[in-house]
Amino acid sequence: MNFSNIIGHDNFKTAVKSMLATERFPYSILFTGPEGIGKRLSACILAAALNCRSPNEDGACGECVSCRQLASGNHPQVYFIGSLKNEEELKIELLEGKEIVIQNLIPPNVSGARTTVKLSIEQMREATRLSTLKALGDGKKIFIFDDIADASIPALNSLLKVLEEPSPQTYFFLITNREVSLLQTVLSRCRRMEFLPLDRESMKNFAESRLSGEDISEEMFDAASGSPGRLTRYIKASKVRLQKIPPEKFFSEVKSWYKGSDPEEKILMLLEVEAAAFRENPNPEGYRRVTLIEKALADLKMNASTDLTISNLFLKLGAVDL
Ligand SMILES: [Zn+2]
Repeated sequence: MNFSNIIGHDNFKTAVKSMLATERFPYSILFTGPEGIGKRLSACILAAALNCRSPNEDGACGECVSCRQLASGNHPQVYFIGSLKNEEELKIELLEGKEIVIQNLIPPNVSGARTTVKLSIEQMREATRLSTLKALGDGKKIFIFDDIADASIPALNSLLKVLEEPSPQTYFFLITNREVSLLQTVLSRCRRMEFLPLDRESMKNFAESRLSGEDISEEMFDAASGSPGRLTRYIKASKVRLQKIPPEKFFSEVKSWYKGSDPEEKILMLLEVEAAAFRENPNPEGYRRVTLIEKALADLKMNASTDLTISNLFLKLGAVDL
């Protein structure tokens, strides 16, 4: 769980390594840049390095109590505050088959699976309250906010005070892919770390280490525009498009396709792939597919039955091998 798990982003790695070495570490850092390029992973790995009991020049050791707690999502002083749904966990895959599990500090408590969850004022208040409590032992308290631009103005205002005067050994990592929509008062209190899209070589490295065995076309690489997260989504989504489902498995496949995730999000993934294919090669069939997916998305937003909408969509897209 050290810096070598971050592909690309050499500027970030160099900057934080020197900050860690001099012990002049900023209390609040803004991780800014496009989605899917490793900001969340970098924030977690930095949190691990800050709290590691025996860190080395490459960051956290990965073996001590703190590292193990962090990797399993049970660190008592590293808090993730984001738009994960209740009970939902987020797993960030590392090299060598390891992973970091992230759990929400405070569940956003949303009703209805399809609501877009944003950082709520309750989450922010609870985070700021916890940030004023004394850190345990010689550990450091770290609050990771993802995506901070989702927070409302009152929620951000409640954070401002603690950003201005953080308690000792307390750190704030703010992640966003929409820096322009953040309050200037928040930005001015953070050390800014910009994450740029990965270059072609780093993308190839990513594909070799994390997506080995996957069939990745050059078009997918281009469409991902330097975002490993986007590339991974394209691959997942393209499987739905390319693989035919045998009829006897159709209904179970429909259910398992979106199981454990937001159906709207899954359909959006599919839409991205079909839209990218259509842009590459505009043709009536591509247009028909994009329109069908957009219609399904609109139906879901109108609270149509999820199973029915997705079954219909799959049938019309020819996913079933009739
Ligand atoms: Zn460690």
